[in-house]
Amino acid sequence: MNAPVMQGLPLKPPPYVKHARLIAWVADMAALCKPDSIEWCDGSQAEYDRLCEQMVAAGTLKRLNPTKRPNAYLAWTDPSDVARVEDRTFICSERREDAGPTNHWMAPAEMRAILQHGKDGQPGLFDGCMRGRTMYVVPFSMGPLGSPIARIGVELTDSPYVVVNMKLMTRMGRAVYDVLGSDGAFVPCVHTVGAPLQPGQADVPWPCNPTTKYIVHYPETREIWSYGSGYGGNALLGKKCLALRIASVMGRDEGWLAEHMLILGVTSPQGKKYHVAAAFPSACGKTNFAMLIPPKGFEGWKVTTIGDDIAWIKPGADGRLYAINPEAGYFGVAPGTNTLTNPNCMASLTRDVIFTNVALTDDGDVWWEGMGEPPAHCLDWQGKDWTPADGAAGRKAAHPNARFTVAATNNPALDPAWDSPAGVPLDALIFGGRRSDTVPLVTQARTWIEGVYMAATMGSETTAAAFGAQGVVRRDPFAMLPFCGYHMADYFRHWLDMEHRLEASGHTLPSIFCVNWFRKGPDGRFIWPGYGENMRVLKWMIDRLEGRVQGEDHAFGISPAYDEMHWEGLDFGPEQFAAVTEMNPQHWARELALHQELFDQLAQRLPAELAEARLRMAQRILG
Ligand code: PGA
Ligand code: MN
Repeated sequence: MNAPVMQGLPLKPPPYVKHARLIAWVADMAALCKPDSIEWCDGSQAEYDRLCEQMVAAGTLKRLNPTKRPNAYLAWTDPSDVARVEDRTFICSERREDAGPTNHWMAPAEMRAILQHGKDGQPGLFDGCMRGRTMYVVPFSMGPLGSPIARIGVELTDSPYVVVNMKLMTRMGRAVYDVLGSDGAFVPCVHTVGAPLQPGQADVPWPCNPTTKYIVHYPETREIWSYGSGYGGNALLGKKCLALRIASVMGRDEGWLAEHMLILGVTSPQGKKYHVAAAFPSACGKTNFAMLIPPKGFEGWKVTTIGDDIAWIKPGADGRLYAINPEAGYFGVAPGTNTLTNPNCMASLTRDVIFTNVALTDDGDVWWEGMGEPPAHCLDWQGKDWTPADGAAGRKAAHPNARFTVAATNNPALDPAWDSPAGVPLDALIFGGRRSDTVPLVTQARTWIEGVYMAATMGSETTAAAFGAQGVVRRDPFAMLPFCGYHMADYFRHWLDMEHRLEASGHTLPSIFCVNWFRKGPDGRFIWPGYGENMRVLKWMIDRLEGRVQGEDHAFGISPAYDEMHWEGLDFGPEQFAAVTEMNPQHWARELALHQELFDQLAQRLPAELAEARLRMAQRILG
């Protein structure tokens, strides 16, 4: 190993870092990125406070009014850096076909030339990318520290915003080195905002590279390289990059599942507890569902949160599926969140929060569309004056993808087992997209294959969580389209095989359901009230698990009869119910054609079971 000193820049790892390979890697990366200094993060509160102070001084953060929102900050990003960049996200497997047709691919050698070694006389993008900045070394655990399910990552970043967000979102800091010891496995993650500073050049509040971005994964060597963005899933590399794209590959190889799912516990008035994991695309209500408060008519029921975005699911020794939340915090969408849609979330946000791209009120607090009465005046997410008249003219005060970052421990509905290394046993799996028509409120799959089919063919209208056109229906299999680190058809195969792994144990498999909260009437308004009222659907599922209701059989699966739903406390008549559960043959003919389009795209590796399931459905619908 080279002496840990690069170009006169002392590495100075703290004495508790005893991992020679890690230290050597940090030295290599420092030699490549050429930061002015290196800081080894310990994850302490003092470090968090100091970095926040420093960012307040630099204009990156604003401290919110401490009497209204203690220890809370607001960041406004560059207008070019507000969402995940899916078309700049790459899966660089050795062979193109292993990334599959739904991922962007580039050969690893070619990508390494662009990012690291340089090509055609041009230096690599990471060469000197941290000039004028500090490189932070951020150790983190996805999953409870030391749990056999957990995985460790180390992120090198030149963004202090990333460091403080990682502290809220993951188990970050010194204790990770104890778990790593002198030779533990970790996923190396390198991140830069891609905005080196010339000597004497002043920094901007939100450095990023407005024109060049790369979010890169090497699944075989399990590395993550991120260039040019400081935002969310582009930059907080433990989340989408490690816990989904890289972890999905680990799961394939090791027999488990990394999923874009919330995990919740639901306890009946009799005290019986069930656990449910649910996959919805970004900005389709995972956080709201995970924090649901049962409505009128459901006295004695309780819902508790284990996770709101990602689930790692493994068969336990008893053959049941167990889920953990690899994260330790929430990076949720602010707009639309209020005391009616998600009271638990609002309670989580009263202190110790980092807001990004919401509006700043004149009294130093935050506001976003859908929070409640707009203030008479505020500064919008770009710092410009905003009044309700601007709102009426269609200008938003908060960016539609504005976010909050908060530790899970702020959530009043946090499940006592949220941090349990063993995870929670799953009784049901739910898949749902955002669909104005076609897909019924709730449908239970009759078999595991039918459930995998439902998940695989899921469609959803696109949202502001990613760059690109919004409101367009696209196939989003398992809500994993942007997050699956390998060939989507192999991923379907992996899910199908899970049935046989579990069957052998003699336990009942979790039931699979498909939901759609988003059907609209001819007036363009949502028919189903959603939010807390989704408890009614959850209860029907539990009644199905317990064999208390029959449901009605149709081509797609089993949906509730009107009278099987618990309606106390809600005025929702049979006609309205018919409008959210109807299977319209014309719509389904179109839908089946879209399923076929996806299957054609994946044809080379598509499991035969899924093609057969489609055929059975088509025969029943089209005759
Ligand atoms: P999401 O994740 O888009 O699934 O909400 C946040 C992000 O990756 O930016
Ligand atoms: Mn998500």
